[in-house]
Amino acid sequence: MSLSTPTNTPQDAVKPSNFLRQIIENDLDKGTYASRRWAGSPGDAAHHSAGALDPAKIRTRFPPEPNGYLHIGHAKSICINFGLARDYGGICHLRFDDTNPEKEDTEYVNSIIDAVKWLGFDWNGSADAAPYQASDYFDFMYRAAEYLIEAGHAYVDEQSAEEMRVNRGDFGKPGVDSPFRSRTPAENLARFRQMRDGQHADGAMVLRAKIDMASPNINLRDPAIYRIRRATHHNTGDQWCIYPMYTFAHPIEDALEQITHSICTLEFEDQRPFYDWLLARLIEGGLLASPAPHQYEFARLNLTYVVTSKRKLAQLVNEKKVSGWDDPRMPTIVGLRRRGYTPEAMQLFAERIGVTKSDSWIDYSTLEGCLRETLELKAHRGMAVLNPVKLVLTNWDEVMGVGHLEPCSLPALPHPPEGMESPLRHFSIGKEVWIEHEDFAQVPPKGYKRLFPGNKVRLKGGYVIECTGCNQDADGNVTEVLATVVPDTKSGTPGADSVKVKAAITWVGVQDGVAAEVRMYDRLFSDPQPDAGGKDFLQCLNPDSLKVVTAIVEPSLAHAQADDKFQFERHGYFVADRTDHAAGKPVFNLAVGLKDSWGK
Ligand code: ATP
Ligand code: MG
Repeated sequence: MSLSTPTNTPQDAVKPSNFLRQIIENDLDKGTYASRRWAGSPGDAAHHSAGALDPAKIRTRFPPEPNGYLHIGHAKSICINFGLARDYGGICHLRFDDTNPEKEDTEYVNSIIDAVKWLGFDWNGSADAAPYQASDYFDFMYRAAEYLIEAGHAYVDEQSAEEMRVNRGDFGKPGVDSPFRSRTPAENLARFRQMRDGQHADGAMVLRAKIDMASPNINLRDPAIYRIRRATHHNTGDQWCIYPMYTFAHPIEDALEQITHSICTLEFEDQRPFYDWLLARLIEGGLLASPAPHQYEFARLNLTYVVTSKRKLAQLVNEKKVSGWDDPRMPTIVGLRRRGYTPEAMQLFAERIGVTKSDSWIDYSTLEGCLRETLELKAHRGMAVLNPVKLVLTNWDEVMGVGHLEPCSLPALPHPPEGMESPLRHFSIGKEVWIEHEDFAQVPPKGYKRLFPGNKVRLKGGYVIECTGCNQDADGNVTEVLATVVPDTKSGTPGADSVKVKAAITWVGVQDGVAAEVRMYDRLFSDPQPDAGGKDFLQCLNPDSLKVVTAIVEPSLAHAQADDKFQFERHGYFVADRTDHAAGKPVFNLAVGLKDSWGK
């Protein structure tokens, strides 16, 4: 397991403890898992007993179902599981939980692999190991089911789904035993083999664990563990027409992989007694190695202004509310990446929100803050005019020379790393430059320090200029701003400061500025909890979540490579779009503004 994180980023700070870290430290102290063996691959008790002591101090896992693209909530889970393994000399497994034949797709498998790699992690002990697949364990799961039947711990139930539901009871009412519950192991085994051999219709019967129909925990009232389902599986094809239920498969997957700490979200808390029951039976029967993995639950991530259910994200894509899974407004990992998020920002976010056992909402601005913080020192600066109007320096030809272009430069990094000098950005100034419309006012509002007739400002990295007026069209719209250049005030030259100004404005030369498509993204939803309290999240879409403008950018930005991140001075952080940006046709996405101004 290695982690490729650049140094000197904020996540190098000492990590705060949390309940999972305490549990792991305690297990390491007590040597809870010190005697575990590992045979080099997942397997049953006999397999591992032939192996050496496990060199991994702990084993965690990230077990996505390959039925959609991963989102920011999964990123939290990835950072927790891979991060704990990294920090405690362990290994984290990437395992596709592909026991459900219907919904899985290799497109999703590949996107999940990419997402985990991009976040900076590798798995299963080496950088090029194949991920594990739960479907590779179907043979063992079947054997485990036969064992439970033989030991009197499971039976085939032929009640209808409705009868089963009614007879399960509820919180106030104990369940009622199925009339099939007292069949002998031999009868059950024969029936189960018929199920496997395709002699019964889908849904005609299920295999259930035989535990306690009166248990206060409804999950222990004889849960179904195998069902009949004729479906082609992406890995095992048509080999099986029975499939294990998630609650049966998951603990077995963990145990075969010698997982020590099986970390999941709180909604699985009620499943833990069954997890423990099942593994205890299979260890008792000598099928699985001891000690068993243990399940721990943490609060899932709820982030304001987004939805994080794969089903709802799929709906946004299918109903074309966004341009795809990687639309920069999507909270998917591919969407965030295209928006300009970095692995460092995502890891910092996971660290900052921490791990708790109680549900809470994290404000979206926390995520944005992490991006801003990680880009602040690294992103090259550049000037871009998002709402351009032309400014003409009417005395340029006279004082500087006809057609003269004066070369200028500014540092790309205002705070370069120690011992390093910032690279320079080069551009030039001539008679005409682009400035922001907002930087000129014919009649200045109170306190306005930028261009208005009679006022002087500095063109950042260029000269001091004095505004003289403007040209307008028939409707009174400003078409050109007029000013004169003050000679001998070029930034960085002796005497540049002899003329005092109250403001410096950003600009781009008309002769070397390049037109760029800039996508000004905002939050996808205007409601902080778009899918809470039975709301229709599609009704909460922010109608202004995307505005496209044609900006003029300085030459250094025009040479950006896809995925390069910049700070457009005064506007925010922008990324060259990884899909649409091309040489000669720059496309930038707004990643995050310079400060948290949303809703203010
Ligand atoms: P969804 O509800 O979006 O479909 P899921 O839980 O079904 O998500 P899985 O592929 O089963 O998706 O999830 C893989 C892992 O990611 C699980 O361990 C799950 O607990 C974790 N996970 C999913 N959503 C979140 C979240 N919002 N916060 C933290 N962890 C999450
Ligand atoms: Mg799931």
